[in-house]
Amino acid sequence: MAWYDTHKRDLPWRSEGRRDPYKVWVSEIMLQQTRVEAVKSYYTNWMEHFPDIPTLASAKEEDVMRQWQGLGYYSRARNLHTAVREVMETYGGKVPDTREGICKLKGIGEYTAGAILSMAYGKRETAVDGNVLRVFARIYKIEDNILSAKVKKEITALVEARQDALRPGDFNEALMDLGATVCIPGQPRCEVCPLADVCQSKREGKEMEIPLRITNKEVPVEPVTVFVVRTHGNGSTVSVLRKLSEPTGVRQWPMAGQDTADPSICYLLHRRPAKGLLAGMWEFPNCVGEAGSGKAALKGMLAEIGVEIKKVSRPVQQIKHVFSHKIWQMVVCEAVAEETDELPSEWRWVTAEEIADYNLAGPHNKILGMIHQ
Ligand code: SF4
Repeated sequence: MAWYDTHKRDLPWRSEGRRDPYKVWVSEIMLQQTRVEAVKSYYTNWMEHFPDIPTLASAKEEDVMRQWQGLGYYSRARNLHTAVREVMETYGGKVPDTREGICKLKGIGEYTAGAILSMAYGKRETAVDGNVLRVFARIYKIEDNILSAKVKKEITALVEARQDALRPGDFNEALMDLGATVCIPGQPRCEVCPLADVCQSKREGKEMEIPLRITNKEVPVEPVTVFVVRTHGNGSTVSVLRKLSEPTGVRQWPMAGQDTADPSICYLLHRRPAKGLLAGMWEFPNCVGEAGSGKAALKGMLAEIGVEIKKVSRPVQQIKHVFSHKIWQMVVCEAVAEETDELPSEWRWVTAEEIADYNLAGPHNKILGMIHQ
């Protein structure tokens, strides 16, 4: 705790003493699967738009998703939105203060519950995530598979036994900070660690070998062909796509003060089904398949809605997008078509400027960065 008092990270969601449970909740949900640095600006922005539970509960889903855009794992935002509405309806706007009650809310698991209960309500609850598992596995030289339920249970019991009775929230945050800045994955910084004297792995020179992670889950790679379908606009034949030097970067577009090269060009967007992966979000037309077969399949799919592709470029860019359960290896091509008058409701022709009003799915947001501004 003494180490934490002098070394704690300065983060926008942290404040002295007990915190607002809603703020702890939002920050912890954002931090799932996302780096702290990436979350900071999203958190600040979110609190400007939705400073409390009633404001978020009454917000439109489109607005909520827009503020989340770029953070990925969109079900987090949808669940949060559903859960705050439940807090309003069932708990009179107050986040429940028991593990049982809080875990009933959509999207809240054991870890987030422990974080909220300890940091906001001062309860002596643990919050065990991957960081804490790693730190404790090293301190106690636990050489079994850290991904097993048995080890998680064993470590949770150890954390509970060590939990600080007076400052449980700070204790959990201290562990998070230690795991994030000192006892880091790979090569831990034992030379500056406040626990170096008691760490069993360090004593036996095993800090690099622990934790042991055995996974037998192979994440499948799915090839996806994507068309950026555009109209002729003013007749320009110049390609609207450029290759990205950093294909994983998310760009906001249009950039302030910049116009598109030809504002009369329209792009074809599709809305994903209301259920399933990236539910309800917008995307450029795409289908599963390598570029060769994918192109033919995509042309056929578009012909069915009356959009006839006149020209397709060679693949301009490959973009990899990693989900927790699969990887999309996307090949992006530019395609030209005539604008059609009628489209099914889940399809739209939109101008470049209008695209900003659509909640593009994360992988397609990367593609947006390829369009010339
Ligand atoms: S001494 Fe090294 S391995 Fe042990 S807890 Fe500290 S940083 Fe981690």
